[in-house]
Amino acid sequence: MSNAEWSARGNKVFIGTYSRFPAAMVKGSGCRLWDADGKEYLDFLAGIAVCSLGHCHPKVTEAICRQAASLVHVSNLFHTPPQIELAELLVAHSFADRVFMANSGAEVNEAAIKLARIHSGPGKYEIISLEGSFHGRTLAAVAATGQPRFHQGFEPLPQGFVHAPFGDPQALEALITPQTCAILCEPLQGESGVRPLTPDYLLAIRRICDRHGLLLIFDEVQTGLGRTGTLFAHEQLGVTPDIMTLAKALGNGLPIGAMLTTETIAASLTVGTHASTFGGNPVAAAAAVEVLRIMLADGFLESVRDKSRYLVEKLEGVATRYPHLATGVRGRGLLLGLVLTEKGIEQGMTIVQQMFEQGALINFAGNRVLRFVPPLVVSREEIDQLIAKLCLVLDDLA
Ligand SMILES: *Cc1c(COP(=O)(O)O)cnc(C)c1O
Repeated sequence: MSNAEWSARGNKVFIGTYSRFPAAMVKGSGCRLWDADGKEYLDFLAGIAVCSLGHCHPKVTEAICRQAASLVHVSNLFHTPPQIELAELLVAHSFADRVFMANSGAEVNEAAIKLARIHSGPGKYEIISLEGSFHGRTLAAVAATGQPRFHQGFEPLPQGFVHAPFGDPQALEALITPQTCAILCEPLQGESGVRPLTPDYLLAIRRICDRHGLLLIFDEVQTGLGRTGTLFAHEQLGVTPDIMTLAKALGNGLPIGAMLTTETIAASLTVGTHASTFGGNPVAAAAAVEVLRIMLADGFLESVRDKSRYLVEKLEGVATRYPHLATGVRGRGLLLGLVLTEKGIEQGMTIVQQMFEQGALINFAGNRVLRFVPPLVVSREEIDQLIAKLCLVLDDLA
């Protein structure tokens, strides 16, 4: 079966929510993917910041196989060893004391919204999030998402969500009402174009929360788990949340998410208040335990920061070489965006398409920047290869 045949079959049966590349991926290893026609790709998308240890990392694969051969699912009516080990690791390496597990980013954000509401008590239900944010596609998560294009046609959305202008703590504080219970934000906005929040801005948000008795929720679904060069992005920003959500990279491709919080706040979710049939499934949890062990091993996070410096330098070189198309680089760790000029933005989709033709995978985030989120195990040689392909494509445009 060729790419064309698979694409034709897929296009007949799927609801058309995705605009897919015309390729069926059949195999992955490290930073490489292969499609049904045997074409090789250098993958700087990593399944949208998910496969942080690269495709089919041997140790993760082994953990998955081992667990799949002994126990796949029992529900949360029982304890399972991988889920306990995972929660212990998360607690040991974060501000948190308690963990709730689900299967995706949207789901753990839903859990965080429910926790913020129930903890704050009757009448305090409003959550302030930021314009340009992305928190997922379920109804409450999409209501929290500060991008109107994701709301259109789905109204009425759940009530109690307001959006503050990006980068303006005073405007945010002015939105607080007696109904407000929490502020929700990403430490760095991924989907809307790799927009970092400055440490000052985050600190101002933390202070506002403290002044008004609000919970601070960090959505680290994309920024968490080494992506920005520390285990969690907030560690390098000097601001600690009350609740944190994780998903994408946690299972290196298996669906798992976690909501973390403190002992006191966690006490508000009592028996029966929230649940997930699959959440923290033993196979996904076993994968996540291995992911954390690898990321916490000596030198791993340091190597991410190292490669980040290298990729930033190379991307800055690209911006210098093509000033008519790109203005500079932003982001943290290996969550980086090449910011495009107005002319570059017009060409954004074309650049991504041409890169695909060249066998390199990147995407166009927020219709503003080219986003680079390679596996964290990417090598300098692979960075060089990616940059060479990018220059080839940009030369062609010029
Ligand atoms: C991807 C993402 C989500 C949604 O995660 P899903 O697993 O697709 O539900 C939520 N928040 C952020 C910051 C994300 O990047």
